[in-house]
Amino acid sequence: MSDITIAVDGPASSGKSTVAKLIAKDLGLIYLDTGAMYRAVTYLSLKYQLTTTEEILARLIEQPIRFENTSSGQLVFLGDEDVTRVIREHAVTQNVSKIAAIKEIRQALVAIQQRFGENGGVIMDGRDIGTVVLTGADLKIFLVASVEERAKRRFKENQAKGIETDFDQLKAEIKERDRLDSTRKESPLKQAEDAILVDTTGISIETVVKKIEDLARKI
Ligand code: C5P
Repeated sequence: MSDITIAVDGPASSGKSTVAKLIAKDLGLIYLDTGAMYRAVTYLSLKYQLTTTEEILARLIEQPIRFENTSSGQLVFLGDEDVTRVIREHAVTQNVSKIAAIKEIRQALVAIQQRFGENGGVIMDGRDIGTVVLTGADLKIFLVASVEERAKRRFKENQAKGIETDFDQLKAEIKERDRLDSTRKESPLKQAEDAILVDTTGISIETVVKKIEDLARKI
C-alpha cells in the first residue's frame, strides 16, 4: 500500500484536504497540499507587491516553499517564514485564482509536485493532479459537493476559528473561485477521464474516507 499514488481533485472547499490528510495517516502516505503552494506564491506576490511573473519566480527561488510535518499538522514555509496561517487569509484566497492561472507559475509548481510524487507513496490534492501532475496515478478521485454545502462547511470552520464571515458573500466567493479555476486556459479544474466522482453532499467525512480507502485497497 505504501507506494500507491492517489490524486484528489475538486472545487473549492469540497473537503479534499481534510479527506486526503486522513487517508494519508491511515494508509501511511505522504500528503501534499498543492493549493497551499499556489496560496504561498500568491502571498509572496502580495507581500512584496510583485507585478511581473519574472519577479514572482525570482522571489520563489530566494524563498522556496517547504513543508514541515509536526505533531500539530503540516506547516508551510517560504524560506524561513512560517506562512501556514497567513496563506488562508481572505486577501490570499481572493487573489489566488489569478496567480494560479499564470502558465509559468504553474510550470514551476507542477515540476516540484511531480518530483514529490515520482516515487509513489503520496496523496496529493488540488485541481489538476489527475489531469496534469500525476496523470499515471493509481487512483484518481474527483470530490464534489453542492455549493450550499461547501459554503456551510467553510462557514462553520470560520466560526470555530473566530473569523467573522458573511454566509452569502462566502458562497458567492466560492462560486467565483470555481468559475475562474474551471474556465482558465492553463490546466483548468476538470474531472480526469479515469477519475472516480465522489459527491460528498450530505455524507460524513468518515464515510468518504472509508469509500476512498476501500477503493485504494482494491488496487
Ligand atoms: O485547494 P485550495 O482551495 O487551497 O487552492 C487554492 C487555489 O489554488 C485554487 O482556487 C486554485 O486557483 C489554485 N490551485 C490550482 N491547482 C492546484 C491547486 C490549487 O490551480 N493543483
